[in-house]
Amino acid sequence: MKECIGVFFMEKVNPFEDTLQRLKALTRYSGKDGVRFSPDDLRVLESPKRTLIVNFPVRFRDGSIRIINGYRVQYNDARGPTKGGIRFHPKVDIEEVKALALWMALKTAVLDLPYGGAKGGITINPKETSADDLEDVSREFIRQIHMFVGPTKDVPAPDVYTNPQVMAWMLDEFEKIKGEKLPGLITGKPVELGGSLGRDVATAQGAAYVFREAAEEYDLPAGATVAVQGFGNAGMNIAKILSSWGYRIVALSDSKGGIYNENGFNVSEVESFKEKNGSLADFPKAQKVTNEELLLLPVQVLVPAALENQITKENAAKVRAGMVLEVANGPVTREADDILHRNDVVVLPDILSNAGGVTVSYFEWVQNNQGYYWSEQEVTEKLERKMVAAFREVHELVKRLDIDHRTAAYITAINRIIDAEKKRGNISQKRQV
Ligand code: GLU
Repeated sequence: MKECIGVFFMEKVNPFEDTLQRLKALTRYSGKDGVRFSPDDLRVLESPKRTLIVNFPVRFRDGSIRIINGYRVQYNDARGPTKGGIRFHPKVDIEEVKALALWMALKTAVLDLPYGGAKGGITINPKETSADDLEDVSREFIRQIHMFVGPTKDVPAPDVYTNPQVMAWMLDEFEKIKGEKLPGLITGKPVELGGSLGRDVATAQGAAYVFREAAEEYDLPAGATVAVQGFGNAGMNIAKILSSWGYRIVALSDSKGGIYNENGFNVSEVESFKEKNGSLADFPKAQKVTNEELLLLPVQVLVPAALENQITKENAAKVRAGMVLEVANGPVTREADDILHRNDVVVLPDILSNAGGVTVSYFEWVQNNQGYYWSEQEVTEKLERKMVAAFREVHELVKRLDIDHRTAAYITAINRIIDAEKKRGNISQKRQV
C-alpha cells in the first residue's frame, strides 16, 4: 500500500507480512550446523494460533459514546502461557498486533523464558483521553477479553503508552470478575500490587547489557556518541544508563521532534524540561532536528526506541551509525536490514535487545506464583545473567554461520519453538515409542 507523506509516496510496510518474509528467508539455513527446523516446520509460525477482536462502546465523561476497537493475538503457545504487552495508540491495527505477537513469541524463546508470545492493543489516543476515560476503557477491555487471558493462559503487560496504573486497573477488574486474587494475570504492575522491583527500568537495563557486550565485541570506543529516538520509558532510561556509563548522548527525540548537540546532553535535565513543558522539542542549547533527521546524524550508535518502520529501504543507506541498538519493536524493516548489513552496520535486534522488559515480567510472575518477593539487586543480577547468556548464544551463531544478529536470534528462537512443537507431537516428528 502506498501512503502520501508530504510530497513523497512511500511504500507502507506491513510489519506482519515483512516478518513472514523474514521467516521464509530462513529456509535457506535449513540443514546448516545449529539449525534444527525444516522449511516445512516453519509453516506452524505462518499465522497466529488465536486472535480476538473486540469492539465495544464506552461512555466518555463528556457524555459521548465511543466505539472502541481492541485486539489480543496469541501467536504461539508451544513453550508456555502466551506473554506480551497491551499498547494504546491511535494507529493500532490487527496487522501491527499480529507482528508484535509473533515478535513476542520469538523474544521469549531467544531468552529461553517458559512462555509463548502474544500482544494486545487498543486503537485510542491516550494523549487526548482523560485518565478517567482511560480507566473505563481499560476495565471494559478486560471485561471483553477476560475469558481469553489468565495467569496460566495469557499474561499481558505494559507496552507503548500503557503503564503500571493501566495494569492495576486491568488486574483489579479481572480479580473482581473472578472473585479471587490473581496477581500473576498481568505484569508491570505497581509494586504495591505485586509488581517486581526493577521492572520499570528493565527494558532499558536489559538493552544496556546487550549493548555492553556488543560494544566489547566490536571495540566501540569509550565515550562513543549516541542518538536515541523516543523518550518513553525505554528511550529515556537507556539514554540515562548509557550516559552514566560515559557515552555521549548527542541526540534525543519524542513524538513532537528532536534535539541535537554534539557536546552531549545531561539527560536528567532534558527529562525535567519535558516534564514541565510536555515535550523536549524546545529544549534550549540544542539544534532542532526532526525524528527522521535524527536517524541520519553522524553518530556511532543509533538507538531507535519509539515505533516500527523507522529505518526503511528509503533511508537505510544514509544511516551513519556503525551500530543500531533496537529498543523499539520492529524499527528496522527487512529490506533496510539487508542494506545495513551490506554496509557493515551491526544491528542488535529487538527480540534480543529489548527483551529485558519481558524477562523481568517473567521474574514478576514467578514472584507472584511463589508469593515471595526478591530485592532489586536480586532482580538486576538475574536480568544481567539472562541478557548476557542470550547475547552470547546469538553471537556464537553469528560467528558460526557468518550471519547477522537478527538472523541468528530468529534461528535461536525458532529452534526452541519448533523443538517444543515437536515434543508435543504437534508437527512432524518420527514417532518413537
Ligand atoms: N511490551 C514489552 C515488550 O514488547 C514487554 C512485554 C511483557 O513484559 O510481557 O517486550
